[in-house]
Amino acid sequence: MTDYPTIKMLIGGEWVADGGAGTMPVVNPATEAVLGQCPKASTEQLDAALAVADEGFAIWSRTPGIERYRILRRAGELLRERAPEIARVITAEMGKPHAQALPEVSVSGDVIDFLAEEAKRQGGRLVPVRSASLLSQQVTHEPVGPSVLLTPWNFPVNLAARKLGGALAAGCSAILKPAEDTPASAQLLVECFVDAGLPKGVLNLVYGDPGPVSEHLIASPITRKVSFTGSTAVGKHLGALAAQGMKRFTPELGGHAPVVIGESADFERTVAACVGGKFRNAGQVCVSPTRFLVARGIYDKFVSEFAAQAQAIRVGDAGADESVEMGPLAHERRVAAMQAVLDDLGGESGEVVTGGSTVANTNGFFFQPTVVANPGPDSRLMTEEPFGPIAGIVPYDSIEDAVLIANSLRYGLASYAFTSSLDESAYLGRALRAGMVAINHFSVSSPETPFGGIGDSGFGSESGEEGYLGYTETKLVTVGKAGI
Ligand code: NAD
Repeated sequence: MTDYPTIKMLIGGEWVADGGAGTMPVVNPATEAVLGQCPKASTEQLDAALAVADEGFAIWSRTPGIERYRILRRAGELLRERAPEIARVITAEMGKPHAQALPEVSVSGDVIDFLAEEAKRQGGRLVPVRSASLLSQQVTHEPVGPSVLLTPWNFPVNLAARKLGGALAAGCSAILKPAEDTPASAQLLVECFVDAGLPKGVLNLVYGDPGPVSEHLIASPITRKVSFTGSTAVGKHLGALAAQGMKRFTPELGGHAPVVIGESADFERTVAACVGGKFRNAGQVCVSPTRFLVARGIYDKFVSEFAAQAQAIRVGDAGADESVEMGPLAHERRVAAMQAVLDDLGGESGEVVTGGSTVANTNGFFFQPTVVANPGPDSRLMTEEPFGPIAGIVPYDSIEDAVLIANSLRYGLASYAFTSSLDESAYLGRALRAGMVAINHFSVSSPETPFGGIGDSGFGSESGEEGYLGYTETKLVTVGKAGI
């Protein structure tokens, strides 16, 4: 990419190209070419960001909601206007096709719009008093304070937009630390807020080694809220650090979404939706469908049709070829992770029906769309989030058995089902244990609805009204009659 941006941090309204702790290369995962160098913040630069975020909070939390709304709405508009250019940077940094990167950016504008509007809508409430001596009981939602937002590389604009939209709409200041793999995507998002007129210090952007940077930011007494999207293991570690300072924490972690496919499901539509859902973003999606539980009567037909469609997916460098449907994995570690999943399929039972290896004779971190029939119940594929282009398919004999398998893991982000039976969809909607259940489709993410999981997938929600309230603290102000 010839016009890859110069990566800069934003501290107190100043763009800073020099990282006090050096630089790290940003690599195009489709070609392994170095796109640019990302500055790494020193401890002094992190402390400077914290100090200005503290000052920014004092300004922004007192800014009327309507003013916050106007600036954020403008940021959302700028993001939609710049979507084609930003989408190209996403493709270069993490490999997804333009046709997936473009809607990621424009929907992020809609997410910011919705959360901005909450700044006008969330007026708190008046609660009737129990005694004649009381005049009022008012419940308000106060911004929680400077917020540290830690975002991953798989949706580098959308996941940052959800957090920034909620934090800034609610009146918090923020320090964004995006993934080291995708700094420019996040930077272009931040530029939209700056160009929309956000006051200096309200939004700050830093990069660096994720462990030490996150730990330093979370430990600071200035930080009042931490929001993290990433793996369950890291989420638990960061949650423990946040708890030591009694800081609000929203973890949006991994998942291992089951899909229950009933005999009555519209077969052609269901297979096409499942293949599209599974291999979107090369399977690197926290709500990616990963465990396909298929009624025994249609199991063989489902496996063979699913595998045929998976095999037909065009894999390659999406930045160089617009017809590519699935790009590379984000970095080399993911390729090794795919191989590890396939090395443990549960003894005799698992069979690789298609795929199963890297793509030969090419640079880049590619892995073939892979379908495994009948992996063992204790295999890695059926128990650990694959976070890549591998699908496991197993048969079930009764809908109750399917629910038992679906609910057998500690994850609980998304669960899906395909059926034409009203009774079955009502039962599955109730019985599937997850933060989000979608029946006959895979769309669980919209600006207006809460997105979040339970169990090892985390807690709290982003987007929707909940995405705003997560950056607030509830406060009661009650007034009695003077002199009584
Ligand atoms: P990884 O754990 O190295 O990195 C994942 C993300 O966590 C990156 O954004 C990274 O910057 C951040 N991170 C890593 N260690 C951290 C630390 N100590 N403190 C703060 N942040 C830290 O793994 P990976 O191979 O890049 O990604 C794959 C794994 O990450 C998968 O298992 C998946 O569950 C998880 N992941 C989840 C999501 C999601 O949307 N929930 C997104 C990306 C990655």
